[in-house]
Amino acid sequence: MSGRGPIRQCAACRERAGRGELIRLVCAPSGAVVVDLRARLPGRGAWVHPRHSCLERLESKPGLLARALRTPVSAEGLERAVRDAIWAAVLDGLSLAAAAGGLIGGHDALRDALRSGTVVELISASDASERTLRSLLELGGTTHTPLPIDRASLGNRVGGGTRAALGILDVQASTHLRRQLQRLRQLG
Ligand SMILES: [Zn+2]
Repeated sequence: MSGRGPIRQCAACRERAGRGELIRLVCAPSGAVVVDLRARLPGRGAWVHPRHSCLERLESKPGLLARALRTPVSAEGLERAVRDAIWAAVLDGLSLAAAAGGLIGGHDALRDALRSGTVVELISASDASERTLRSLLELGGTTHTPLPIDRASLGNRVGGGTRAALGILDVQASTHLRRQLQRLRQLG
């Protein structure tokens, strides 16, 4: 796995990884843990893989997190909080990418883009049909992330009509979205 920037250690499994592969956590003055997805909040941070096994370990052994943050902290609901934060970032990423032309939707347009190889990732609505998805993925073998929202919500989010699937283009505007989708897949 290629990390970007400095190497950090996961507080749960102790593995070392690039900052981009881990999620930063900080402690609020109230003693609650805060998910610092952009890794910009001040203060001492702890790092964790955005995956079930690591998050569950920190929740069940809050001492690990307290040690990393050097302060007593409540890890209750940590996995839920990380999941919510990543999901909110995915939704932001969708809006950003859509506004900047980083997404392609619509039956014919998406098929053409898949055939031409300009689509680097595919996302789909929760109620997209198996058959539709299979036929799309056959056109261009690409990373696919199913999203927990339906066709109407997905279309709404990107300012279009109903969308069963969307292709992500390899442009700067979709970088944030792709990073959050990777985290979402890691989380499972
Ligand atoms: Zn870990």
